[in-house]
Amino acid sequence: MSVDTQKKAVAIVGGGLAGLAAGCALADAGLRVTLFERRPYVGGRASSYEHPGTGEVVDNCQHVLLGCCTNLIHFYECLGVSEKIRWFDELTFIEPGGAASRMAPSFLPAPMHNVPAFLSAKMLNMKDKLAIARAMAEMSRGLPGDSDEDFLSWLRRNKQTKQAIERFWKTVLVSALNEDLDRISVRYAAQVFRESFMKSAAAGRMGLPSIPLSDLYGSAVEYIRARGGQVQLRSAVTAIGLKENSVGVMGPAGEQQFDYVVVAAPFQTAGGILPADAAAEPIKQQLAHFESSPITGIHLWFDREITALPHAVLLDRTIQWMFHKSKFHEIRENTGSGSYVELVVSASKSLVQRSREEILELATRELAEFFPLVKEAKVVKAAVIKEIYATYAILPGLDKYRPQTRTQWPRVFLAGDWTATGWPATMEGAVRSGYLAAEALTESLGQRRRFVVPDLPATGLAKLFGTSKG
Ligand SMILES: Cc1cc2nc3c(=O)[nH]c(=O)nc-3n(C[C@H](O)[C@H](O)[C@H](O)COP(=O)(O)OP(=O)(O)OC[C@H]3O[C@@H](n4cnc5c(N)ncnc54)[C@H](O)[C@@H]3O)c2cc1C
Repeated sequence: MSVDTQKKAVAIVGGGLAGLAAGCALADAGLRVTLFERRPYVGGRASSYEHPGTGEVVDNCQHVLLGCCTNLIHFYECLGVSEKIRWFDELTFIEPGGAASRMAPSFLPAPMHNVPAFLSAKMLNMKDKLAIARAMAEMSRGLPGDSDEDFLSWLRRNKQTKQAIERFWKTVLVSALNEDLDRISVRYAAQVFRESFMKSAAAGRMGLPSIPLSDLYGSAVEYIRARGGQVQLRSAVTAIGLKENSVGVMGPAGEQQFDYVVVAAPFQTAGGILPADAAAEPIKQQLAHFESSPITGIHLWFDREITALPHAVLLDRTIQWMFHKSKFHEIRENTGSGSYVELVVSASKSLVQRSREEILELATRELAEFFPLVKEAKVVKAAVIKEIYATYAILPGLDKYRPQTRTQWPRVFLAGDWTATGWPATMEGAVRSGYLAAEALTESLGQRRRFVVPDLPATGLAKLFGTSKG
């Protein structure tokens, strides 16, 4: 029997992408949404703020999406911010000394679309390329299930050369999954390549937000309010209590009653706010298997332009990506002759204990190896942002510990990039989790609504690929 959703009140705990996506979907479905966010702004781990040392508005880190992020792209469409994403088909890999390899799709059908660029890439020799082609062929047979094998062991088992591992597999995956190869699940490594490299040219396009992240995701607040919902900032939820016909949500204004609650806090805090009864224990035990991995962003404002490239992958050094924000960020464009560059180091364990000065010295010294103009340029201001708990590591075998959105409590649902979405810790994973929670919640009201957007279809010969091996 379908229940009138208009009468139902739902609390969302957490205003990251998971909570915002769930809140927007449920507000659309006619529920009365109240979203609690403990910070003064929404966006969670994808947000921006005025950096105290420089006075500049900075993202906590450059966030990248791909064409295969169908739910995130749908979320942008709903919020009316799709045109704030700048899309790039071409990637440039640069070696110290400046040799550049360009990766861009050709007219060939998938999965051959990247082959011409791959064959002419200077960063790999023919032995490396043949090894990579063999491994890709193996991946095309089907997406493996999550097992205890780590991806580095898989690469060695599949006879990858040292250079193929260092310059190709590691370069792509450490950035995509924010962890070292020996701590990455084979399933999720294979998913990155199948979804983004092999399926179609559209799936592999790279998107970069052209406005600060909090502006991008802040529009979700208006979206929820315009549909009769509330967003309460600076409102940490401390506990959830089950009543006979409702759930009590304890916030700064005391306890408020709701029909349902979606807990969309990060895995580190979610367990602590679940109802305090025996059903919480298995979830807490599952979450104890999660481990965090850091990301460091190094923001440099130069007195001049150091490269014409909008972004580049940097090989064989500590710094891994260069994002030339003056080239694609609206508020950074046309700022005269100066330029704003962000360098990103994923899985940045080696930088966690280093001082700001040490990191800046290392980063500018290495950057000059790729772009000689750095030697003549002056750094006008700089910021180092270490996100120690940036994402959880997608460890081999972690899938069995990722909680489902439904819980033992019929009125309590879970969302967050850490829930069982089939995606790693990404903006896409977070939005999917929010949509999955909205589907489960509306289903318990007797409505079968689809919020999750299907994956992009494979094109060309990629249609012949196996789907799942596990
Ligand atoms: C440095 C960095 C770089 C990244 N780069 C990329 C990238 O390039 N591409 C990509 O796709 N992903 C990237 N990610 C990952 C991506 O940002 C996350 O996977 C995603 O934003 C997680 O969203 P979430 O809603 O699940 O969690 P969160 O963003 O952590 O949101 C949880 C929210 O809950 C709030 N909260 C916590 N406790 C309470 C409470 N008790 N009461 C009320 N509110 C509470 C928090 O303040 C937070 O706003 C990056 C992350 C970081 C940190």
